[in-house]
Amino acid sequence: MIGARDRNGPPDVTLIVQKFGGTSVGDIDRIRGVAALVGATHARGHEVVVVVSAMSGETDRLIALARKVTPRPNARELDVLLATGEQVTIALLGMALEAQGHRARSYTGVQVHILTDSAHNKARILDIDGDRVRRDLAEGTIVVVAGFQGVDEHGDITTLGRGGSDTTAVALAAALKAGECHIYTDVDGVFTTDPRIVPEARRLERLTYEEMLEMASLGAKVLQIRSVEFASKYNVPLRVLSSFRDGGGTLITAEDPAIEQPLISGITVNRDEAKLTVLGVPDKPGIAARILVPIAEADIEVDMIVQNVGADATTDFTFTVHRNDYARALESLKRVAAELRARGVEGDDRIVKISVVGVGMRSHAGIASTMFQALAGEGINIRMISTSEIKISVVVDERYLELGVRTLHSAFRLDRAPG
Ligand code: ASP
Ligand code: MG
Repeated sequence: MIGARDRNGPPDVTLIVQKFGGTSVGDIDRIRGVAALVGATHARGHEVVVVVSAMSGETDRLIALARKVTPRPNARELDVLLATGEQVTIALLGMALEAQGHRARSYTGVQVHILTDSAHNKARILDIDGDRVRRDLAEGTIVVVAGFQGVDEHGDITTLGRGGSDTTAVALAAALKAGECHIYTDVDGVFTTDPRIVPEARRLERLTYEEMLEMASLGAKVLQIRSVEFASKYNVPLRVLSSFRDGGGTLITAEDPAIEQPLISGITVNRDEAKLTVLGVPDKPGIAARILVPIAEADIEVDMIVQNVGADATTDFTFTVHRNDYARALESLKRVAAELRARGVEGDDRIVKISVVGVGMRSHAGIASTMFQALAGEGINIRMISTSEIKISVVVDERYLELGVRTLHSAFRLDRAPG
């Protein structure tokens, strides 16, 4: 449990954790810029803990170095190597802060006891000992902590998986009971949809953890998913902002019953899936298992599943997998189809999944019909549909990606400010 002994009582609003990603610390000028931003927060009377990633491209460079030595580097050794990326940036930021007249001290994950399990390269944080950080903060020091890394019970260095600095920041915020955790990145916040597809896409002022989790897993790559789960579990208010431009960013919190929720908050696109169908299998118990067990045994993850019952007591069974697994899934399906004497197998890897997400749909009917009507109005054929409590997804042909997203974005009036 992260800082369980401290979770009683209100958060400390004077304490802010600020996290800066790789592009924000990509060169010395930018590190100076981060120091100025952090220094300004401190000068406004906040206690500040800063978490940084490695300089952009550095983690990739280190991985490539390791692969030159051996195609499968030992996971423990890889963590020793990867942790150096963040050790460089904490030291440089510490120096930049001192040079700008602040008191600062940098720490690796080991030094502040970010205790993790021993799953090298994808470790999970178990506990953080905030004592040393608190002592520094109390004497007015800005504390700089390396993201993405920790230490296991044997004293070995671990890393948290790609994008893991987000999780370090949230975990520190939870342990220290910070008032907010600010995630600085190269975008202005979380948008209603990808602005490269819809130029009218708007920055969202607020979003709930649940919506962010749906949007992150559907392809809005702003935050590491685990960091959002963490924030939700410990109720840490998260704010995503740009390190290059001013603005309030997007505040991500628990749902506030006092605030009226927009019906739909965002539209996401997933281009990474492929669709497979077995045609005309007998409609009887056990068929879904016969089809999907070999897929699972091949370690292929299935996303959407749809089964249609035909008039002749046979059924068509359709599901989606990651495009990287498409060829293998198709092979497996052909074998099963032969065993089941199915009418045939079809596959299509030129599809996209478009989803609308919003907690407001829990309390409002008619979202699905608005969505389907809007797509029909543009002649876009829906190939599959799936729903959850706060999300509706459709699979359509790849060529309808842009038209589909734009159509839905305006059908749900996401280009207009709420209110
Ligand atoms: N440096 C690590 C990565 O590139 C961790 C992070 O940036 O969050 O994935
Ligand atoms: Mg990142």
